[in-house]
Amino acid sequence: MNIRIGKISQWISPNFSFCLICNTTWKFVKNKSLNYEEYSGHFALCEKCYDDCSIDEKIYYYTQADYIKENKNFENYIIESILTDSGL
Ligand SMILES: [Zn+2]
Repeated sequence: MNIRIGKISQWISPNFSFCLICNTTWKFVKNKSLNYEEYSGHFALCEKCYDDCSIDEKIYYYTQADYIKENKNFENYIIESILTDSGL
């Protein structure tokens, strides 16, 4: 499907988590997963919102979750993932 329908998606599919920018759940948009350790991925944004963001914005959104904010290793790893993903 992959359409950003916004908050209404959370009423239709309350058991799914959602993109921090367009508020659309993973039932309707594809999430963009980035690793915060070797075998674990974190998804804060959908693919479309991710592509619309600058690198600074990507780092901001992907380091918002408490479990990443509170762990320097996770935070550094995910920033590396964003930079690598951006071709840097
Ligand atoms: Zn989105």
